[in-house]
Amino acid sequence: LRILGIETSCDETAASVVLRHENGSGEIVSDVVLSQLEEHSAFGGVVPEIAARAHVEALDGLVRQALSQAGLTVHDVDAVAATSGPGLIGGLLVGLMTGKAIAMAANKPLYAINHLEGHALTARLTDGLEFPYLMLLVSGGHTQLVLVKGVGDYERWGTTIDDALGEAFDKTAKLLGLPYPGGPAVEKAARAGDASRFDFPRPLVGESRLDFSFSGLKTAVRQAATAIQPLSEQDIADICASFQRAISRTLKDRIGRGLARFQERYPTLQTPALVVAGGVAANQVLRATLQELCDHHRFRFIAPPIRLCTDNAAMIAWAGLERMAAGLPSDPISVAPRSRWPLDKEAAALIGSGK
Ligand code: ATP
Ligand code: MG
Ligand code: FE
Repeated sequence: LRILGIETSCDETAASVVLRHENGSGEIVSDVVLSQLEEHSAFGGVVPEIAARAHVEALDGLVRQALSQAGLTVHDVDAVAATSGPGLIGGLLVGLMTGKAIAMAANKPLYAINHLEGHALTARLTDGLEFPYLMLLVSGGHTQLVLVKGVGDYERWGTTIDDALGEAFDKTAKLLGLPYPGGPAVEKAARAGDASRFDFPRPLVGESRLDFSFSGLKTAVRQAATAIQPLSEQDIADICASFQRAISRTLKDRIGRGLARFQERYPTLQTPALVVAGGVAANQVLRATLQELCDHHRFRFIAPPIRLCTDNAAMIAWAGLERMAAGLPSDPISVAPRSRWPLDKEAAALIGSGK
């Protein structure tokens, strides 16, 4: 089975062709991504209107490129998969409508894919991981701990009650006068810093529910930064290092509880696993923290290549293939994009019914 995938939910325009072998393993045949970072950096964040226009301009060319790199035409794929939520509605419209047009013109089934499902299933493409496993998604828009039980079968165990983790990095960077996107800038500055200089808060640590909160941390950074104006380069480095340490400690507590809960739920599972996804997965301090935690709890720690952790179309194509292989139905051509679309069925049903 071969499928064309399209992703346009945020600030990456992407197209990919992925192949699923008879034995269930996957192979990325082509994978093209155009990041709009430069378009948005002047504004210090993603501007929805600019993003939607950029998707319109780039998507046709990227689809053509993904197909030609695979040596295929639209008639050679078995289906089309396009992200239909959650995300910025303008971008979703561009990608989903393009997917519909191609599916109709070539007479192929259309799969409207939940972006979060793409992230959730990536480790099965890269590592052939078996269900069930835990996934931590940490990006600019999401911070979620999800139990992945099967294709289309997810339980969200924790989410952020305010800022996403990537957002916390971006806002902290902005406060300190560092460039956008903030994550890489904060990580770089932190290398020369003293992580013990500031004792930043670690919200929700010790609580039994598995949610996250990062806005208090950002406020504490602001207070520390305004107390020592003008900030020297060393001050900035120390704040960044202390900020990362607070996050690392928070995650240790939150995710540690998640791993313990997973073990209680599946006491006989031989090799439990934690997968990380999202742009923040590029952070070395975060990776080291999760690795340590997994070693401690005897979990396998899986971090797919960064290119597949950040937004891409290969994961959308793969989610489509998984749905096909699992015998789940394709979507009607009338399917609409959804800016909000939680992964777990209960929550999704509530939003779908307008409650
Ligand atoms: P979505 O949340 O819809 O999946 P997004 O575009 O917000 O999409 P990604 O593209 O997956 O998310 O990731 C971008 C985020 O990752 C930004 O917030 C960025 O600051 C953060 N990030 C990137 N590199 C690092 C790093 N080395 N350390 C920490 N954060 C990082
Ligand atoms: Mg992005
Ligand atoms: Fe994403």
